[in-house]
Amino acid sequence: MKILVINCGSSSLKFQLIDSESEKVLAKGLCERIAIDGSMITYQPAGGEKEKTVTPMADHTEAIRLVLDALTNEKTGVVKDLSEIDAVGHRVVHGGERFSESVVVDDDVIKAIEDCSDLAPLHNPANLIGIHACRKLMPNVPMVVVFDTAFHQTMPQEAYLYGLPYEYYEKYKVRRYGFHGTSHSYVSKKAAELLGKKYEDLKIIVCHLGNGASVSAVKNGKCVDTSMGLTPLEGLIMGTRSGDIDPAIIEYIANKENKSIEEMLTVLNKKSGVLGLSNNLSSDFRDIENGYLAGDENAVRAMNTFCYRVLKYIGAYVAVMNGVDAICFTAGVGENGPIIRNIVCENLGYLGIELDQEANNKRGEDIVITTPESRTKVCVIPTNEELAIARETARLVK
Ligand code: AMP
Repeated sequence: MKILVINCGSSSLKFQLIDSESEKVLAKGLCERIAIDGSMITYQPAGGEKEKTVTPMADHTEAIRLVLDALTNEKTGVVKDLSEIDAVGHRVVHGGERFSESVVVDDDVIKAIEDCSDLAPLHNPANLIGIHACRKLMPNVPMVVVFDTAFHQTMPQEAYLYGLPYEYYEKYKVRRYGFHGTSHSYVSKKAAELLGKKYEDLKIIVCHLGNGASVSAVKNGKCVDTSMGLTPLEGLIMGTRSGDIDPAIIEYIANKENKSIEEMLTVLNKKSGVLGLSNNLSSDFRDIENGYLAGDENAVRAMNTFCYRVLKYIGAYVAVMNGVDAICFTAGVGENGPIIRNIVCENLGYLGIELDQEANNKRGEDIVITTPESRTKVCVIPTNEELAIARETARLVK
């Protein structure tokens, strides 16, 4: 089956056309600045040149129309006509408590995603725009939604409840949901394959370290805890997000700096994390790594504080699962950052971890980076959320 995977943001849209049998990417690309001046589409067929075209896109329907035109283009397209696209898989950020699995899209599902928009006001409405646009342009093609929160719905109550009045959970569903679920699920399953063990027999910690970052504890094939919460702001220190802080800091700084709650949330989401800690040096870990190696004090501070938080979560999740068999690193920083993995693993001697430095310096492959003697294994597994969405879509449409 040929599956079109769509990840729709408020002004951007990433896409991949994937053959679900061979699991090969036939073409991929990105629409940027949708409904903003200077809209552009980047398109790359497998084995072909990447082409960037600046062209007006009044809305997401227009963007998807351009994607479909590119895929069926006489010269650079990869399908003859749209009837070759068997299904569309959409990434949706928040499925609330309603969705613990991916589902085929119908009116009822769309209504339920709308109902969750309150919990993800920046993401769910944008995801829905992509679904509506595809329905308009490909009315007879089945569609599936894959939720970022679904994998974490197996968490027990003690992991997902906050220490708040219970009525807020009952009335407003204030609880931990967790995000990056598609990645945590894909990587933990891949780790079991890589180690040649049954997924259901393992205790795995997945560190998804990208611009957004989260850790999860996966015990016997089920997520039992994760670091992001009601929103993706909780947990690890990220590119620009603060992660865990004392909530009273918000009022304290708001008073000192005369800021509103909205302004404080902008600080926590956009100006904090590695960017804020490094005194605005960068939110990009490549710059932080370079600065760290050069001994720049802003970069050293940001790097050490980031790694310390990862280490702390690993310790917490070892406790939660009463042990761990494998720790996995994934996403932009986790996959490419040997320095970060070294700093974190240096303090995991109590788990019997011994890194194999040569393996730790490799990039871009599923690999165990500990020595054969290492009691707990550490793996680097490039995440592939698009492939996971294509697999889910093919499974449900079949
Ligand atoms: P993601 O959100 O998974 O796309 O990850 C983005 C983050 O990965 C950015 O902070 C990048 O700086 C970081 N990243 C990408 N490539 C590298 C690399 N080669 N070395 C270190 N960090 C990287």
